[in-house]
Amino acid sequence: MSVFEKVTLEGVKNIIVVASGKGGVGKSTVSANLAISLARNGYKTALVDADIFGPSIPKMLGIENANPEVTHLGDKEVMFPVEKYGVKIMSIGFFIKKNQGLIWRGPMAANAIMQLFENTVWGDIDYMVVDFPPGTSDIQLTTVQKLQITGAIIVTTPQEVAVNDARKAASMFNNPDLNVPILGVVENMTWFTPATHPDEKYFIFGKNGGEVLSQELRTKLLGQIPLVAEVSECSDNGSSIFNTNNELVINAFEKLTNTIVDSI
Ligand code: ADP
Repeated sequence: MSVFEKVTLEGVKNIIVVASGKGGVGKSTVSANLAISLARNGYKTALVDADIFGPSIPKMLGIENANPEVTHLGDKEVMFPVEKYGVKIMSIGFFIKKNQGLIWRGPMAANAIMQLFENTVWGDIDYMVVDFPPGTSDIQLTTVQKLQITGAIIVTTPQEVAVNDARKAASMFNNPDLNVPILGVVENMTWFTPATHPDEKYFIFGKNGGEVLSQELRTKLLGQIPLVAEVSECSDNGSSIFNTNNELVINAFEKLTNTIVDSI
């Protein structure tokens, strides 16, 4: 049991946080595609972009110019999430200008994130996926202290430098005062498959990083996602990999989603 007083998000059944040690390992990609895949499987799904210093979800999902509706509920100002690909999305990116970085100090940033959770009208949600900033800071700490987290997913790429940082990020969840179950590890960019040779696999970042980390953390390797050019093309132009015919990546995300649902 956590020693911290919790905030309840009414109607939200499960909160899954997606964390990484480093930036650039594909944490937002995994968060977004996991959320879309859950929605495609009929679950009521929300996605919260808590990566306050580099919110990439709006761009990735092609909703950069969305303006969440704001209204008053009694004396409280509340927001409505933006819907795309069947997912209810909230991001700090909706409220800051493009190219404008946030220079808030830790506690202020943590407060802003909690407002995204608490002041949004979510309705009934089976799975809320939270894209955390990389590393461990006030934002991650406050969120896991205040919300009842169902479990954390650790994203890493196979190479040792990424695994080392992922290990540190994971240690926060294992802190006895926080005690957040780690659902498992997702290894992203496991191998490269050229579009012209779909049967070939090149392990350009080394092998087994995700496996080693999951064994160390005594958890599962939830899935491996290949490095495929279409993934980054989709995130650059705001489209969904599920609307392409790239079976390789679609299958990888579907398998990952089923494994996560089964482990909850
Ligand atoms: P993070 O959230 O860890 O900082 P992102 O999800 O933003 O990382 O990914 C960083 C970049 O790598 C993005 O341009 C994204 O499209 C790309 N990327 C992530 N995963 C893959 C993959 N499996 N194949 C190809 N490109 C990927």
